[in-house]
Amino acid sequence: MPAAIISGKDIARTIRDELNARVADLAKEGLVPGLATVLVGEDPASRLYVGMKQRAAAEAGIHSRAENLPATTGQAELLALIGELNADPAIHGILVQLPLPSHIDDSQVLLAIDPDKDVDGFHPVNVGRLATGDPDVLAPCTPRGVIEMLLRSGADPSSKHVVVVGRSNIVGKPMALLLLRKAAGGNATVTVAHSRTADLGAVTRTADILIVAVGWPGTVTRDMVKPGVTVIDVGTNRVDDPDHPRGYRVVGDVDFEGVSEVAGAITPVPGGVGPMTIAMLLANTVEAAVRLRRAGR
Ligand code: NDP
Repeated sequence: MPAAIISGKDIARTIRDELNARVADLAKEGLVPGLATVLVGEDPASRLYVGMKQRAAAEAGIHSRAENLPATTGQAELLALIGELNADPAIHGILVQLPLPSHIDDSQVLLAIDPDKDVDGFHPVNVGRLATGDPDVLAPCTPRGVIEMLLRSGADPSSKHVVVVGRSNIVGKPMALLLLRKAAGGNATVTVAHSRTADLGAVTRTADILIVAVGWPGTVTRDMVKPGVTVIDVGTNRVDDPDHPRGYRVVGDVDFEGVSEVAGAITPVPGGVGPMTIAMLLANTVEAAVRLRRAGR
């Protein structure tokens, strides 16, 4: 029997409907969550992502402020803007779209963001809070979205063996930390594999839940998974396709056709993890707003 499809698109829609209702309730209490996006330069993919985030915020009733700066913006100017956003009581979430131009030090910019407004969850204070199991941490959006997908599709990771392929700071590492937490969506036994893993298939075949975030199409094939496994494909890769009107199509890291004949459940690409990432950015912004109000800020 082919694998059940875990639709991130549908789950994200449900979460966004829940958030719309929550934002409407907060508005009645006089709290309007605010999200600032900061984009430096003209990179088309970054512009596209920031535009999607802005539109999603507006649809949820979140106040949004778009700071689109020229590629020539200096580091001091950018840090001054971050300082201004940190102090702005109407802004509860600050997202700096990466990558930044090469003359700007990403880590200095991320460090300058108030950790309580760090809706991407990349500030070292939040990385530390995640590592120490703080239940109130603003966790990175993509791995948080994966946890929500697992819980809402009936694949609770608790007591399962979860293999994460990829160890980036954005996906793989925070994914593993969320799965390890003593909390809902955690309590898994976690293995993290990467490019130096000796026999990747031997590791992935032991997974009850397999999460793949590599950035290379076809990394996981049918022979590398155990029957019935739940597969979450984080990968987003463009492959040339002359038959497609755009000349390319977007695929994940997993060979969907082959693996879905063996797996119990699998996420599609597109329509899987991608929509969840945006939904979690909105969720983090709303949570940040509520916490900042509680703290009297
Ligand atoms: P990185 O390039 O930062 O990390 C890739 C990881 O995969 C590294 O840890 C690398 O190992 C590992 N890796 C590379 N090749 C192999 C291999 N053959 N076998 C095993 N491990 C391998 O990527 P990201 O984590 O930022 O992103 C991963 C993918 O997820 C990309 O396709 C990206 O576009 C997508 N993505 C999707 C998002 C969404 O919202 N849907 C959000 C973020 C990312 P090593 O550390 O040894 O180099």
